[in-house]
Amino acid sequence: MPIPAADIDAILKREADHDCPGVGEKHICVRIVGIAELPTRFGEFQIAAFWNNRDGKEHVAILRGDPRGAEDVPTRVHSECLTGDALGSLRCDCRDQLEVSLRRISTEDPGLVLYLRQEGRGIGLLNKIRAYALQDKGLDTVEANLALGFRDDERDYAIAAHMLGSLSVRSIRLLTNNPSKISQLTALGVKVAGRIPHVIPPNPHNRFYLETKAGRSGHWIDFEGKPHLPEQSDPVRVEGMGEGDARATEARDA
Ligand SMILES: [Zn+2]
Ligand SMILES: [Zn+2]
Repeated sequence: MPIPAADIDAILKREADHDCPGVGEKHICVRIVGIAELPTRFGEFQIAAFWNNRDGKEHVAILRGDPRGAEDVPTRVHSECLTGDALGSLRCDCRDQLEVSLRRISTEDPGLVLYLRQEGRGIGLLNKIRAYALQDKGLDTVEANLALGFRDDERDYAIAAHMLGSLSVRSIRLLTNNPSKISQLTALGVKVAGRIPHVIPPNPHNRFYLETKAGRSGHWIDFEGKPHLPEQSDPVRVEGMGEGDARATEARDA
């Protein structure tokens, strides 16, 4: 069941003047400013829009069912990638990861995808494109980011932690292959009750592409032989490749 209209009104009223000491080193504070229906090609969702009181950034949560007060809510944290998510860029695997998340979450009740507006490993869209340009000249992603004067990964999961709090989620099971995401969220006060492996089912069109990526631990080589790092900070795992049957290893002990 989605969040009922009357409850949405109550949530927005409660959130209207929300302000708190914030989460994490940067004292991130967000408030929910709108919740609407979102029918998609992956299923029926609601979308909750969050406003960051501190820096004006906008984030969204894509909701399946009503996560308020729920335990063990399957949750994916996705970082925005305009070139991958919207344009279908093959420089990264963001689109594949987002699609798999939405399909998976569409089968849950409740389930969540937190979509964080921290493009390009946190350096922003314009700087990401500049980093791509440096990569085109032979630098790898880390070198390119450093050349632009940024850390390797500037993302901050404090936003995600606060969003979960705003949605009154008690505990989550995180859809990820990256244990450090779990420890980062846990350090920010999120109760992570388990991990769901994030596995991409291959099809005849993407099998070679995905297997090439998955074959390198953390790094992968594109069709032109250039190395890339996964932009979602989450190693790709392809169904049927290594580490046993991922679905069978779904764990609640992370
Ligand atoms: Zn707050
Ligand atoms: Zn990307």
